[in-house]
Amino acid sequence: MTAVDVAQETFDSLNPATDEVVGTYPVHGAERVAETVARARGAASWWASLGFDGRRARLLRWAAQMTRRMDELCTVVQQETGKPHGDAQLETVLAIEHLTWAAKHAPKILGRHRRSPGLLLSNHTASVEYQPLGVIGVIGPWNYPVHTPLGSISYALAAGNAVVFKPSEYTPGVGKWLVDTFAEVVPEQPVFQLVTGFGKTGAALVSAGVDKIAFTGSTGTGKKIMAAAAETLTPVVIEAGGKDALLVDSDADIAAAADAAVWGAFSNAGQTCIGVERVYVHQDVYDTFVDKVVELTGKVRPGTEYGPITMPSQLDVIRRHIADGPARGGRALTGGKDAVGERFVQPTVLVDVPEDSEAVEEETFGPTMTVAKVRDMDEAVEKANGTRYGLGSTVFSKRNGLALAARLKAGMTSVNAPLSFAGIGSLPFGGVGDSGFGRIHGPEGLREFSRPKAVARQRFAVPINLTTFNRTEKTDKLVAKLVTLMHGRRANG
Ligand code: NAD
Repeated sequence: MTAVDVAQETFDSLNPATDEVVGTYPVHGAERVAETVARARGAASWWASLGFDGRRARLLRWAAQMTRRMDELCTVVQQETGKPHGDAQLETVLAIEHLTWAAKHAPKILGRHRRSPGLLLSNHTASVEYQPLGVIGVIGPWNYPVHTPLGSISYALAAGNAVVFKPSEYTPGVGKWLVDTFAEVVPEQPVFQLVTGFGKTGAALVSAGVDKIAFTGSTGTGKKIMAAAAETLTPVVIEAGGKDALLVDSDADIAAAADAAVWGAFSNAGQTCIGVERVYVHQDVYDTFVDKVVELTGKVRPGTEYGPITMPSQLDVIRRHIADGPARGGRALTGGKDAVGERFVQPTVLVDVPEDSEAVEEETFGPTMTVAKVRDMDEAVEKANGTRYGLGSTVFSKRNGLALAARLKAGMTSVNAPLSFAGIGSLPFGGVGDSGFGRIHGPEGLREFSRPKAVARQRFAVPINLTTFNRTEKTDKLVAKLVTLMHGRRANG
């Protein structure tokens, strides 16, 4: 322990439904963060030296441990976020799926692969392998405190890196649970460590000389992190906010689309980066869709189907967005101006809201959705693409689902079901624009935490040696002839 840590400052983690203190954690300063990263360096070499098989066995043991003790983990999640136990279980199940996928697929995706050397260097073999970066700093949010950070952590560990994790100040207990259970399975070295505290602790991690920062949180914080990381040329993955749209075509299964919109918008009290916030519906099915959404929303009870707003400051944002639409000609079909209580928010469906209102343009992160009627699906695509964000999206259409999905400016699209891309291990996850860049999950997620290492090996010497001062004029002429044969015979253009 350092002198700084002797008089350690602490902070409380509260249950947002009751304000009860559920844990007290240290506020780690820059010195402590630097020590943790230094320890991680040694652990990273050891972890890398285990190879894919050694890591895979340990990561699968951790997944089994998490599965067996899922109930315990869900209780911690529930205490710190207020979400229903079933929702905590759902995010944990998906996280376990990703951890297992990453552990099992890392060898094939990151291991050495042969590449074609091409005709000019056909006396060589060419290969590439993906090596670990070293130490990854992971900074997480509170809304899915298991699934979201593990989306980076599992892939970083499977790729052979050590991880220093700074969980959200709202969910430090979940972070500690994850780090402690990992240490039970991998007691030899501090491969996965925890630092706790507020934004300053996260900032210290960004400046601590890690090999990459994987950040998930708001766009504003993402910008600050990128600016700070530029000082040390530390690469970053930014998984930021969203304003996801759901599109309903005239041939869609309306009952299924309404159900997806209601669940996508209101589950977890709307505190989902890939939550449905805007809905664009073909004019032919608009009335039927809206009726169904209002009917289903009537059955959604805050406190039962979803929990409180975890972060109190978000209540003001939600209140402002709900007020802005109706103030400018929109209507609330459910919820509305009195929807925001002290902790819980009633599910709110807004219609006829102008496209340039805050409720349509800004991330609300509450149980609200705007529904707009569109002339056709071209207008739906144009409006869906009309924000600075581009994270997830959903399309309901029997005939045109894939074609519409391809036109949406978003990292992921789910067709005829809500948010399913998030639970598929093989699919990359990440955004465009203000939603960030870089990818977690899938092969892309494994490569995000690795560096490609290219190797060319000469198998035998050839008479025409290009890379020597002994190269002759005759060789140059031969090469010119060869390249003309290979590339020069196509007609202009
Ligand atoms: P936030 O930006 O307030 O905080 C995220 C983390 O960053 C916390 O751990 C915080 O302590 C830390 N932090 C704050 N300031 C920092 C700084 N200057 N330097 C380093 N770290 C700092 O976000 P939040 O409220 O915890 O999370 C909600 C946001 O996260 C929403 O915008 C949501 O859309 C987004 N989110 C995105 C994804 C995704 O995958 N794209 C997933 C979940 C949540």
